Amino acid sequence: MLLERYLKVSENKLPAKFLILKSIDVCNFDNKDIDELWEMHENAMSEFRETTYIKNIKITHPNLLDLKIEIAKRIFENCHFCEHRCYVNRNKELGFCRIGESYYSSEFLHYGEEKVLIPSHTIFFCGCNFKCVFCQNWEISQVYFENLKVENYCKKVRPKLMAKIVEEKRTISKNVNFVGGEPTPHLLKILEILGYVNVNIPVVWNSNMYMSEETMYLLDGVVDLWLSDFKFGNDNCAERLSKIKNYCKVVKRNHLMINDEDIIIRHLVMPNHLECCTERIFKWIGKHLDAKVNVMFQYRPEYKATLYEDIDRTLTYKEMEKAHLLAKKYDLDTDV
Ligand code: SF4
Repeated sequence: MLLERYLKVSENKLPAKFLILKSIDVCNFDNKDIDELWEMHENAMSEFRETTYIKNIKITHPNLLDLKIEIAKRIFENCHFCEHRCYVNRNKELGFCRIGESYYSSEFLHYGEEKVLIPSHTIFFCGCNFKCVFCQNWEISQVYFENLKVENYCKKVRPKLMAKIVEEKRTISKNVNFVGGEPTPHLLKILEILGYVNVNIPVVWNSNMYMSEETMYLLDGVVDLWLSDFKFGNDNCAERLSKIKNYCKVVKRNHLMINDEDIIIRHLVMPNHLECCTERIFKWIGKHLDAKVNVMFQYRPEYKATLYEDIDRTLTYKEMEKAHLLAKKYDLDTDV
């Protein structure tokens, strides 16, 4: 059943994956090079896959989550968290996303997400690796591209403190929801936060899915529910409206790398993009994935969208109806 495992973790009937990682011990990895770390990771992940359904967790050190944090530190110093693959040392220089240290704009119990998620403890990280001209959240996502002073209105992420907040909110929250902007450039800090969290809580990865393969390997065993954003059905629209290359190849690959049935795919229907985007995406999902699909109609021209004639309006009823019919045509499960 779709979302079955996520729901059990949320109801405290099964442990979150990151807690299982903490129960898998690994050898000391000081002085290991990156290839050796990945080899250790692969071996330990085989053990993880066999123990996904255990109920009682005994935390050990160093463990598989510690190893993932160490690999994330190395990637941060030669950044390829996403497919921009800037290969910069982010302690000293900035890549495409211009994100150095991690900041977040807010964190709160969100009641506006899908019904299986709410109340969702949502943490909004600053910055993004996309430059969507229609971004409805651009004050958070585009801060670095707009040269806004992030430190004036956002807070630096302090993993130990954030973990405490996550634990406190768990008395009410159904999950912790890492979003932005985009969480991918913040993966190191997110893993560090989870390193300090000691309550059982499902992890939601709310993302544009432009991660590198290496990031996908690190997220395997961390994410309990994938909340993905599938925007474009072809690379031309992605390049024109989000300034992203190879969109389809990367986003499809990453969806196919997900090993479980805990996926909700969001698709924001855009005016004049029913054939080139919505239909192609739905057709592909119908053929390749077992996932819930949230067909979203709240598009409105925000940020720079007024400069692009095709998306400079809200949807018509006809377009909304067509999107519903397409979801039916490709037999998608839209009950979210
Ligand atoms: S997260 Fe992506 S865009 Fe940002 S520096 Fe790393 S590879 Fe570049």
